[in-house]
Amino acid sequence: MADMIFKYSSMSGGKTINLLQTAFSYEEKNFKITLIKSIQDTKGKNKVLSRNGMQREVDILLHKDESLLTTKNYQKYYTSKVILVDESELLNKRQIQELWTIAHLINIPVICYGLKSNFKGEIFSDGVSHLFAVSDIIEEIGSTSLCECGKKAIFNARKINDKYTLDGPDILIDEGTKKEFEYVPLCSDCYMKYVKIGSEEAKNLAKLVDKIR
Ligand SMILES: [Zn+2]
Repeated sequence: MADMIFKYSSMSGGKTINLLQTAFSYEEKNFKITLIKSIQDTKGKNKVLSRNGMQREVDILLHKDESLLTTKNYQKYYTSKVILVDESELLNKRQIQELWTIAHLINIPVICYGLKSNFKGEIFSDGVSHLFAVSDIIEEIGSTSLCECGKKAIFNARKINDKYTLDGPDILIDEGTKKEFEYVPLCSDCYMKYVKIGSEEAKNLAKLVDKIR
């Protein structure tokens, strides 16, 4: 049977470029693919867009609680050589279970691209936890995402009105049109220095460090 692969990186880490290049390679050889993304990703509407200008229309724009194991969706993917999922951190646990089922009972390879963590530095969603739990292969996409200090970016920090914050809704999609908020890829040291250090949790941990040093 086929594998389910989870490829993750921080924001601006080249996930979508990797996905669209994979789609292009299959389609260049006339293999059918199915591209899925969540309707919660409003950026690009029914298209997947990469920073280098590549784009492709999605085949399934998946609603929040929509099942992939319906006759209607099965008709779209059953002849595919591969299923590619963009921003898979927006899928719920049930949808990840269904993708795993498609790989292991229907025998179609599934490659999910997504974020590991949210702006608070926590696992993004139940869907991501489940991706880590069940994926046959887990790969970090080679880091093209650098922190402003030049180290590899690990975190996706949120800035509101130019200030780092740990507050606000879990999901806030940057469509590139609103100027009041943005995401900034940061390394662990810069995330600690600029974002985390103001929080109660980090202050308490820093106190413990001071005590033992
Ligand atoms: Zn840094």
